[in-house]
Amino acid sequence: MNQDRIPFNKPCFEGKELVYIAQAINNGLISGDGAYTKRCHAFFERHLGVSRAFLTTSCTHALEMAAILLDFGPGDEVIVPSFTFVSTPNAFLLHKAKPVFVDIRDDTLNMDESLLEGLITPRTKAIVPVHYAGVGCEMDAIGEIAAARGVAVIEDNAQGLFGKYKGEFLGTLGCMSALSFHETKNITCGEGGALLINDPSYIERAEIIREKGTNRSRLFRGEVDKYTWVDVGSSYLPSDILAGFLYAQLEARTQIQQQRQRVWQYYNDSLKDWAGRHSVRLPYVPDHCEQSYHMFYMIMPSHEDRQAMIAHLKSENIQAVFHYLPLHLSEMGAKLGAKAGDCPVTTDISDRLIRLPFFNELTEAEQERIADAVRSFYK
Ligand SMILES: *Cc1c(COP(=O)(O)O)cnc(C)c1O
Repeated sequence: MNQDRIPFNKPCFEGKELVYIAQAINNGLISGDGAYTKRCHAFFERHLGVSRAFLTTSCTHALEMAAILLDFGPGDEVIVPSFTFVSTPNAFLLHKAKPVFVDIRDDTLNMDESLLEGLITPRTKAIVPVHYAGVGCEMDAIGEIAAARGVAVIEDNAQGLFGKYKGEFLGTLGCMSALSFHETKNITCGEGGALLINDPSYIERAEIIREKGTNRSRLFRGEVDKYTWVDVGSSYLPSDILAGFLYAQLEARTQIQQQRQRVWQYYNDSLKDWAGRHSVRLPYVPDHCEQSYHMFYMIMPSHEDRQAMIAHLKSENIQAVFHYLPLHLSEMGAKLGAKAGDCPVTTDISDRLIRLPFFNELTEAEQERIADAVRSFYK
């Protein structure tokens, strides 16, 4: 084992990050909503076509803003997949909503839209689809059910920036959506996020919630001559130094996405035959979805094989990892009233899924080493 270790993730720099950080410092305004923040906002508004974009300190915080905007009261419910990051339910739980877990589809690993009807109650206020691996949830069906029952749709699009569903960008399909720029995501600034608003009726209040409950943004636009406390809120603005870093990555998006597509395609091409022979499943992307090339996973035939594959790759100095532990089985899930048998597909998939190293700068030589190691697992 004398080969270099291949990590699961590596933050990648595209060139101009340091230039823009220096520029942000030279601009003399390093708190939030400076020149780079405005550029990032304009980018999302123009490029994705959302009504309004707000950078936040994380995706978790963008989801918290969404929760505040929806005005949950005690007993109000939000439907989230069990197969997701803890922030999806946590952000809502912190703001009085009770998370209700929905199982996933066996193919895309996204929320199973056919189960939603059975979970919606008069207390349901929102459904939060998570576009797992940047592959779109069945947004037409989810949108129809939500509209018929008067429930809001908030997309957790932490993994799906630039992915599309039926030709439309993910994150533009619910009344709002949340992005993450955590170091593990395609486009990053270390820690960061954004709330994208599609329904303009939420814009004014979002601006206030993001500015600690004040109408400070109106002061800067010259609409009022002093600012005051008008609503609840918190501190959700990232420093313009981080926005500079982020803007450099957004400018390099074509190159980043091409690199990630190359990485994904290499794995898929080189493992397809092997996977077919050993009942291993590779990612499924429906024809009507364009994925964001966020990750590459395999679903092994059993939990034992998954554990053994992680150990086997580790012995080859390759870091492969499992993913979400079902939230309905967690300690907190149980406190919320979830039962062990609630989401059987989530439980099964969670036991068998393994993610391979995936980052922009992963070389073909490294991928060849990884694919060889994977294929040598079954003797
Ligand atoms: C990464 C991730 C988050 C959290 O993002 P932060 O920016 O770290 O708060 C939330 N939901 C999903 C689905 C994620 O993948």
